[in-house]
Amino acid sequence: MVIVMQPSASEDDLSTVVEFIRSGNGEAFVSRGVNRTVIGLVGDVDQFDDHHLRSLQGVADVVRISAKYKLVSREHHPHRSAVRVGGVPIGPDTVTLIAGPCAVETFDQTLEAATMAREAGATLLRGGAYKPRSSPYAFQGLGPLGLRILAEVREATGLPVVTEVVSPADVDLVAEHVDMVQIGTRNMQNFPLLQAVGAIDKPVMLKRGMSSTIEEWLMAAEYIAQRGNLDIVLCERGIRTFETETRNTLDVSAVPVAQQLSHLPVIIDPSHSGGRRDLVLPLTRAAIAVGADGVIVDVHATPETALCDGPQALVHADIPLLAAAVEAFATASGRTMVRTDRLAV
Ligand code: PEP
Ligand code: MN
Repeated sequence: MVIVMQPSASEDDLSTVVEFIRSGNGEAFVSRGVNRTVIGLVGDVDQFDDHHLRSLQGVADVVRISAKYKLVSREHHPHRSAVRVGGVPIGPDTVTLIAGPCAVETFDQTLEAATMAREAGATLLRGGAYKPRSSPYAFQGLGPLGLRILAEVREATGLPVVTEVVSPADVDLVAEHVDMVQIGTRNMQNFPLLQAVGAIDKPVMLKRGMSSTIEEWLMAAEYIAQRGNLDIVLCERGIRTFETETRNTLDVSAVPVAQQLSHLPVIIDPSHSGGRRDLVLPLTRAAIAVGADGVIVDVHATPETALCDGPQALVHADIPLLAAAVEAFATASGRTMVRTDRLAV
């Protein structure tokens, strides 16, 4: 960490900062330039709070050299990781398609969506049993019944399952039924929930908070990793901006940025970002072109009856187009699309 002093800082200001560092068992190396003095802080820099240092008299800036996140950072793990979900790989040389309904409504609806997902080339099934809805009056999901339906549909189709968990109390039950647990955008900074999924032996898909920076997202991943679970897949799902034509703004730059900073795979959700069916295919193409390790897409046989997010669900007629887009863009970016018949499960 480097502390840059203001040109007007006095010797007393400098001594106060140096004393503060030493009192916290850090080492302070003072370099006096022509106009400014900088202090190199070495030691356990994490125990020093940037804001506190910045508030000291005479301090102009505090610059961190190493990332605050450690376990998920590429600094200590230069090669990009692959996470296996029920035998299906996500990252770094492949493109994985995850598809399914936003919410599990009935066995038949989930099975039909799973069949559509398979036809599109998906190797993982998504579907929410616990839905974190903005309104308390909206469908909240089937809960344990939804988990049982997902397990039955996995049995019927062979597709490993991804589902969201919204409460630390449900983590073990959810993890027993599915192959990867999802932390949704609204819970990205629910620290007890992150710690709870950090203690299970199933992979975790961590969606980016809709108002979170990439650093906050990686710090949230660090919470999971710090509890011992390093099987984490990051998912960019759109962020809040001033734009109202789309539900959220897909931040495509987050993919290469997160991949540079972290060794974890990064996928994109083009359904929840745009919130519109007509945008799902263009955003899928963009996601793969920018290097995403996978795409997670909503599908529904009759979206007009869907209990959640019908307007963004792809329908039967879109499935061949989705399959073609994923295959073509994976090949164009020098990668292969993960296929069930290529898996060693
Ligand atoms: C979902 O994937 O069903 C979901 C609720 O997504 P998000 O958390 O990105 O809104
Ligand atoms: Mn949804």
